[in-house]
Amino acid sequence: MFEKILIANRGEIALRVIRAAREMGIQSVAVHSTADADAMHVRMADESVCIGPPSATDSYLSIPAIIAACEVTGAQAIHPGYGFLSENAAFVQIVEDHGLTFIGPTAEHIRVMGDKITAKDTMKKLGVPCVPGSDGGVPTLAEAKRIGDEIGYPVIVKATSGGGGKGMKVAQDASEMERAFQTARAEGKSNFGNDEVYIEKYLTTPRHIEIQVFGDGKGRAVHLGERDCSLQRRHQKVFEEAPGPSITPEERARIGKVCADAVARINYIGAGTIEFLYENGEFYFIEMNTRLQVEHPITEAIFGVDLVREQIRVAAGLPMDFQQDDLKITGHAIEVRINAEKLPEFAPRPGKITQFHAPGGLGVRMDSALYDGYTIPPYYDSLIGKLIVHAPDRTAALARLNRALSELIIDGVDTTVPLFHALLQDADIQSGDYNIHWLEHWLETHLRG
Ligand code: ADP
Repeated sequence: MFEKILIANRGEIALRVIRAAREMGIQSVAVHSTADADAMHVRMADESVCIGPPSATDSYLSIPAIIAACEVTGAQAIHPGYGFLSENAAFVQIVEDHGLTFIGPTAEHIRVMGDKITAKDTMKKLGVPCVPGSDGGVPTLAEAKRIGDEIGYPVIVKATSGGGGKGMKVAQDASEMERAFQTARAEGKSNFGNDEVYIEKYLTTPRHIEIQVFGDGKGRAVHLGERDCSLQRRHQKVFEEAPGPSITPEERARIGKVCADAVARINYIGAGTIEFLYENGEFYFIEMNTRLQVEHPITEAIFGVDLVREQIRVAAGLPMDFQQDDLKITGHAIEVRINAEKLPEFAPRPGKITQFHAPGGLGVRMDSALYDGYTIPPYYDSLIGKLIVHAPDRTAALARLNRALSELIIDGVDTTVPLFHALLQDADIQSGDYNIHWLEHWLETHLRG
């Protein structure tokens, strides 16, 4: 096992990894920008190294600075968290070239899944059901129009390198194709340096259901059920729950096996998430994330496993601590993402936290790097905490979330907490009857109205 690992990240996820490492008796090294010198992950780690100025490009994304931090501290492995360098295949290669271990999949798997066209092609060959659409990239507008007519409108034009909801444009009919095609290409080019796009049928009332998979890199893999992440704003998740309110045990077993078998066949190592749209009882693959997801704690809650611990174990060459038959669901878990943003515009509001109190009690987990007097810097994303609740069933989990939110105190900045208080009053949320468009419609009538 490693004696010391470095966490190439910040905020709540850096803390999350430090916690797992400490329980395993592994020393942790935090890295930080000059803007994060007072951050909680720096205080909690055993050691810390300043790797650059505030801009993420010059610090958390600086590969030479991170490799140098490993060399000066003697860290043997790097956990990337999510975001930043977590899905950067070139980084993984450099880490390995320096004789260090990347706690995550291989560079090759990251490369294949990081390009949505090759990911879809690979999954299709592995027997995973996909959204109907173009066969690979669509180079010209004429071709895009031909495909639109063939699969039928509405369609969605997607940048193959897209992520975080960027590079996707819907065309409701043929007249909107030119605009959708050009915009998706331009966004792909400006955000990801790649203007290749492909086309999919636009599903009108699907749910976003994702399957957690885990592999040992030696041909064994398991699934840990699904998360329903349909409550989204601008294709970004806001509220997640597991198990999915609409998924039956038979469906879970079937799609879970398809996913576990697929990743076993490619010798996938570590945690991964296979994302689907789910409509009328059918699953349609959209993409695979080759890293720990923000919403992984709800899966940990219902399965009683520590996914970060498992990631570290398999990276060190140890076997997974569980097999498929050991993995049983207990109860229901919900996570809400708390952002420092002002409603109704969701405008980022960094600033000083004058008072912070995390909720507690049975079945409540607060993953956050906030503390009294902390100043949220303006340079990074606005996620400041995740509140996760676990209870015997969905009704009890909703009640527990309501109770936990009422205990939470974050003073000094605006947050998205009022959104969750309001959502919990809604009959559709209470019954679990929502799809990927539900939240946008709800926001139109409730917040702006
Ligand atoms: P990103 O990599 O930017 O997160 P995804 O491919 O994962 O993009 O899609 C994000 C979200 O966009 C999905 O959860 C869903 O809400 C919406 N979406 C993507 N593809 C489709 C589609 N074919 N039909 C309808 N909605 C879609």
